[in-house]
Amino acid sequence: MTRGTWTRRIGMTAVATAAVTAMAVPAGAQAATATGTTAVATVVAAEDVDYTTWQADCLTVMNQALPYLKQRIAAAEPGEKQALVLDIDNTTLETDFGFSYPQPANKPVLDVAKYAQEHGVALFFVTARPGIISGVTDYNLKYVGYKVSGLHVRGLFDLFKDVAAYKTAQRVNIESKGYTIIANIGNSATDLSGGHAEKTFKLPDYDGQLS
Ligand SMILES: [Mg+2]
Repeated sequence: MTRGTWTRRIGMTAVATAAVTAMAVPAGAQAATATGTTAVATVVAAEDVDYTTWQADCLTVMNQALPYLKQRIAAAEPGEKQALVLDIDNTTLETDFGFSYPQPANKPVLDVAKYAQEHGVALFFVTARPGIISGVTDYNLKYVGYKVSGLHVRGLFDLFKDVAAYKTAQRVNIESKGYTIIANIGNSATDLSGGHAEKTFKLPDYDGQLS
């Protein structure tokens, strides 16, 4: 499966927005392909990354996240509002590995997110995507099965900020609403730096090749 750039994705999304507006039922929905039975721990050069490898690498990380979350959710303090923070592109959605809209979920991450949302954990999505595509992004996440408690997109002034600082500020904002962020899942270092999460899980970006 071919891979495109983030910019190309946004262009595709903008086109798809018009299509969705025009149609009652969006076309092109496609199920995520379940693959990834082999755990690959080695770093793979970006030019060698294919869909199967990516899925296997994501599964390896989520196989560490799930037992932690099960334990942490079970150990919730009385009245504790638990939250999971997730990046979107190439974390919750298959941004760079498909051409459809809605974009398919990244299955290993969806499986973990579903466990969390079914056990009372609020899901907050923090993305560098600009606010102009907030609506289609929200629709896409819900369409593929995520329960969205909050979607943080970049506003006009946020676009001039450092991505890591912007994302950290969103987690501070989530905490200020009384949530305990038990985990933060992303595929870029800028998704995870800056603290304000009890644990972080890093999916592959193959040296920045995946947005
Ligand atoms: Mg990403």
